[in-house]
Amino acid sequence: MPGLPAEVRGVPSDAAPVLDARIPAGPIEQKWDRCRAEMKLVNPANRRKHTIIVVGSGLAGAAAAATLGEQGYHVRCFTFHDTPRRAHSIAAQGGINAAKNYRNDGDSVFRLFYDTVKGGDFRAREANAYRLAQVSVNIIDQCVAQGVPFARDYGGLLETRSFGGVQVERTFYARGQTGQQLLLGAYQALERQIAAGTVTMHPRTEMLDLVVVDGKARGIVTRDLQTGAIESHVGDVVVLATGGYSNVFYLSTNAKASNCTAIWRAHRRGAFFGNPCFTQIHPTCIPQSGEHQSKLTLMSESLRNDGRVWVPKKKGDTRRPNDIPESERDYYLERRYPAFGNLVPRDVASRAAKEVCDEGRGVGPGGHGVYLDFADAIARLGLDNVVEKYGNLFEIYERITGDDAYRVPMRIYPAPHYTMGGLWVDYHLMSTIPGLFVAGEANFSDQGANRLGASALMQGLSDGYFILPATVPDYVATAKLAKVDTSHAAFREAEADVRRRTHMLLEVNGRRTVDSFHRDLGRLMWDDCGMARSDAGLRRTLAKIPELREEFHRNVRVLGTGEELNQALEKAGRVADFLELAELMCLDALHRSESCGGHFRVESQTAEGEARRDDAKFCYAAAWEWTGHGQQPALHKEPLAFEHVHLAQRSYK
Ligand SMILES: Cc1cc2nc3c(=O)[nH]c(=O)nc-3n(C[C@H](O)[C@H](O)[C@H](O)COP(=O)(O)OP(=O)(O)OC[C@H]3O[C@@H](n4cnc5c(N)ncnc54)[C@H](O)[C@@H]3O)c2cc1C
Repeated sequence: MPGLPAEVRGVPSDAAPVLDARIPAGPIEQKWDRCRAEMKLVNPANRRKHTIIVVGSGLAGAAAAATLGEQGYHVRCFTFHDTPRRAHSIAAQGGINAAKNYRNDGDSVFRLFYDTVKGGDFRAREANAYRLAQVSVNIIDQCVAQGVPFARDYGGLLETRSFGGVQVERTFYARGQTGQQLLLGAYQALERQIAAGTVTMHPRTEMLDLVVVDGKARGIVTRDLQTGAIESHVGDVVVLATGGYSNVFYLSTNAKASNCTAIWRAHRRGAFFGNPCFTQIHPTCIPQSGEHQSKLTLMSESLRNDGRVWVPKKKGDTRRPNDIPESERDYYLERRYPAFGNLVPRDVASRAAKEVCDEGRGVGPGGHGVYLDFADAIARLGLDNVVEKYGNLFEIYERITGDDAYRVPMRIYPAPHYTMGGLWVDYHLMSTIPGLFVAGEANFSDQGANRLGASALMQGLSDGYFILPATVPDYVATAKLAKVDTSHAAFREAEADVRRRTHMLLEVNGRRTVDSFHRDLGRLMWDDCGMARSDAGLRRTLAKIPELREEFHRNVRVLGTGEELNQALEKAGRVADFLELAELMCLDALHRSESCGGHFRVESQTAEGEARRDDAKFCYAAAWEWTGHGQQPALHKEPLAFEHVHLAQRSYK
């Protein structure tokens, strides 16, 4: 990717065709029903003749594979984990949103839609956000029917709590283990199909390339992580549900194995990448304790329901928190945002934490922390109540820090957590490659420039249980697919490519570990493409990434062979892809010279330091096209129209 695209250099871009998101006509409330009514169906007897490849068995993938299997398709589901239960979705703590209005506190489908569009800082597609809110109510019913043990109130109704950026209580939860319980539900549904013979599971198998035949996605190339065998698999449709790419920052709250390889390889085969720079920095994570660390731990946003965030008013105050009197504490979120208080959206809370730390009022080692204090909640609700609601989170905190957060406030700091960017998809969740569908965190999502808490599980399950099971059959029924097998030249070429890349990584035999490169990349990205981004910083990092990538391919050391379980080799392939994706993220961040949601450009802020959008120039989703090795990527735009939630400066004051 030498140089910068014309758009970034300030030269008008050439007239690339505007992307068609295939948004159905008609009133927003009827679009999804109308779309479903107009889509083609496949006769039950014909479904088993079609093979659907699903890569990923987290919430989005497991839900899609189980549902398409139940419909009667022949589904082949791939994961690099040893079991679907290990997908990163299992880590989700706080909850899942749904517009059930069980609390009768003013919630509705429209309000959830409104909150999502506003929370996403007007960079989400209205039609998708509305559909997500509609489908949210079905998700809860589906999961309850599966036996997911959501928390219940005394009378037996499902309990809810609040998450950031909203003023209703619509978040359903299972203690601090919501993702685990939802994944066990999806996993059971999947197991049922495996037993019924409709789904074939391929664990410990990593997708390393996408195969495109006659312009359509027709299969994948995988590597068996135990034997190293490289194989091709043919299908009529490929679904990628491979999660997010926050690990580009090295340190993140994601599972260590989460990576971008599947979507990056598909991007290189022609799938456009949507809004790659839109990443979420979560405000409540346990601060980094040293250079040795390889992972950060989230403290669920649900804690902000009752915990109060503060720092000392005085700079450099090193007293113990309980020795600092009330009058010398700054509850800065409550002060600055009285309407939402501690429950402002994540981007707002993260930036506010960074600001007070930059002012020298941060707490803990290096001043990289703020307090999350439960003293008031314990006094108000009683200790037992707090233990019941958040017990396992306090336990995680104590195991990692050694501190008892019932007695001293937690220390928290923002950390990379979620990626709103991902492969661009239309309303059907189909990428720019016909037959390649993308679901869950892997697509560029319904969340815009910032995701509200508890909305990722909602989106993953909406995509998997409800959207793909309608749109994939429509594609199968209408696409004219030639008969293809793995002897086709496209499969042979993709396999050869995978072998060559694997071989090259083993051949280098340099002097630096894969992790050392990953750590350097993470530092570059955190410094210049993290919580605050500037023109100068992004240009600096754009110059450094190619140098680091070049050194990686010259000097990385991967021990072992390709014919055995070799985790260094797995990591090397993933880091090689991160080194390419990182450049696209910075390029996207550089071209978007406005601030919006999680993307904060220091040059574009209001007098109070809030993000300032530039709707005249940037009211679009950016979709980047790979144009070849060493070539500039091409920028395409999907204009966004806001007809129901009118464009306005976000305010949580
Ligand atoms: C600590 C934490 C807590 C969270 N809490 C919440 C919460 O409370 N509420 C909420 O809404 N969201 C939460 N989130 C976000 C949410 O958990 C994720 O966005 C969501 O679970 C992603 O699901 P997914 O199915 O898209 O991907 P994942 O669960 O990441 O699954 C990806 C799957 O793809 C497979 N895979 C990936 N690449 C390949 C490949 N190349 N070949 C083969 N297989 C591959 C993996 O093996 C895995 O099976 C949290 C996130 C974190 C990190």
